[in-house]
Amino acid sequence: MPPDSGVWRALLTRHELFAGLTDGQSLALRQLAELFLHEKNLEQVAGARLNESQRLLLAALACLPILELGLDAYDHWETVILYPGKFTPGQSEVDEVGVVHPPKPRVGEAWPHGPVILSWRDVERDLAGDWDYPMNVVIHEMCHQLDGHRGAFDGMPALPAGIDPALWIREFSAALVALRRAVDHHQESFLDPYAGESPAEFFAVAGETFFVAPELLKEGYPGVYQLLTQYFRQDPLARIDAGELG
Ligand SMILES: [Zn+2]
Repeated sequence: MPPDSGVWRALLTRHELFAGLTDGQSLALRQLAELFLHEKNLEQVAGARLNESQRLLLAALACLPILELGLDAYDHWETVILYPGKFTPGQSEVDEVGVVHPPKPRVGEAWPHGPVILSWRDVERDLAGDWDYPMNVVIHEMCHQLDGHRGAFDGMPALPAGIDPALWIREFSAALVALRRAVDHHQESFLDPYAGESPAEFFAVAGETFFVAPELLKEGYPGVYQLLTQYFRQDPLARIDAGELG
């Protein structure tokens, strides 16, 4: 049963990253979230069990990046696997020089055609702001899925006609190089240094930061911020500023 608007409003006002949504955006997000829960499989494993409002919160987080893109942006995958806490992948990882590492516990994972795997405890931890760097594991994994829409995790999602792919590659590559340089020189970074792993991780980390701490991303990488406003067709910083004025 869809929640009444009081339940939905309370859910949105409890979490800062929904701040400043207009009534129209709030309604659109609610409809998207309900559609998401209807169309995607939510497999709760290892004892995870969300109540109705937690399910709706998870769906609202997953749908925030596609608020202006629509659920079609997720049409290439359908399953979310939810663990109560961190989970350990079954396979060992082999690094670039061939050394085998035993699997480490993870908070989230995305596969090109699904599933998306999440730790509910870490979803809640991120919402509480309990992090060293701005983080939201749900939005991070959803950005991977958007990135993978064309079949590869390469840091470039399906771009609308208005965005020049060459400009995208230039801006994101320059930001990735700058981040790696800062990390190599042990300089402070507002962005999780994990973003330096690859263009795919940079896009996912930039994407979560765009929604969670837009002021930091805009200040640190204005070109990347600008492209993300065009891609997501949202400007979270302008939204927060307008909400504070209003
Ligand atoms: Zn990632």
